[in-house]
Amino acid sequence: MSGRSSDPVGPVDGRKVPRFAGSGSFARLPEIDRVPDYDVAVLGVPFDNGTSYRPGARFGPMAVRQASRHLRPGHHVELDCSPFTAIQVVDAGDVPVTPFSIEEAMGQIAAHAGDLLQGDRKVIAIGGDHTIALPMLRSVNRAHGPVALVHFDAHLDTWDTYFNAPTTHGTIFRRAFEENLLVEDHSIHVGIRGPIYGRADLDDDRRFGFRTIRASDLDDLGVQGTIGAITERVGDLPVYLSIDIDVLDPSFAPGTGTPEAGGLTSRELLRVLRGLTSLNLVSADLVEVSPAYDHAEITSIAAATVIFDIVALLGLRSLGSAGQDGLDAPGGGDERSSTGGRQHRRNRRDRAGRRYRHIWL
Ligand code: MN
Ligand code: MN
Repeated sequence: MSGRSSDPVGPVDGRKVPRFAGSGSFARLPEIDRVPDYDVAVLGVPFDNGTSYRPGARFGPMAVRQASRHLRPGHHVELDCSPFTAIQVVDAGDVPVTPFSIEEAMGQIAAHAGDLLQGDRKVIAIGGDHTIALPMLRSVNRAHGPVALVHFDAHLDTWDTYFNAPTTHGTIFRRAFEENLLVEDHSIHVGIRGPIYGRADLDDDRRFGFRTIRASDLDDLGVQGTIGAITERVGDLPVYLSIDIDVLDPSFAPGTGTPEAGGLTSRELLRVLRGLTSLNLVSADLVEVSPAYDHAEITSIAAATVIFDIVALLGLRSLGSAGQDGLDAPGGGDERSSTGGRQHRRNRRDRAGRRYRHIWL
């Protein structure tokens, strides 16, 4: 993170212009052409032709931007940081993506994201269905080489094909493995649950070098244990963070394409994310918000808050401070990562001194 602007232009101040008025950009941030440069671009990717059940995630960017009006983005209380004063974040609009050809759409998304990523800039993509993670990973690889994937989802998304289609929202991470987009044996799924078509799906996934913290494992690991397991898995590697909103229980995210009972609460997801302060995040996505199935913006408010938290993690890293999560300050000493960023490493013991147990499939 360069700190390209010494005085970043932040969101419209909700004390001067009410949050329900004015700009419709994410968090009412400046649009990309309103500032000379940026560190992080929020990019809408309104594509949902890779969905296997409920469609409609093409309207996700619009709904998440609208819900982001609820945010008071001046200060992140738990992370104790004001990210929009640390880094220049912009809304880069939407990729003008075709609704008629998956392959053509993949090229459009990769090209658009690739342009935005140049110069060690970062992109947070708002889906769209999860298919968009594949072109995102391709463009991130052109900038950084292979990355570790931290993947929050009810589903593995490592199927081979579906009705003979190789590129769907359920196959992207197998494609990413085959294309060597991921650093071997450093990626992790979090929140997996629900029945699957066959046991072989799990064997395949493990063969591709993924590890899994199931939703049910969270009950045993706890928030701190989950944070410790993710942090240990990815280390100092460049990380791509991919969050399928269906990692949340349908009671917390009804507006999504393939809901599964027994998921995380919003608070669990946010607490885990807020503990990932040591991650070397290079880009991220938040996908699968399908607003036609939402009620009272439940899903899109959760999604907007998650994106603000990702921004806060990037802002913290830029500030060179791990901050506080308000409950459990990171343990261990400061270290310099291979990328030169100042990091805190979480102690692999929780506050009571217990070692984290790793319950991986
Ligand atoms: Mn999913
Ligand atoms: Mn998914």
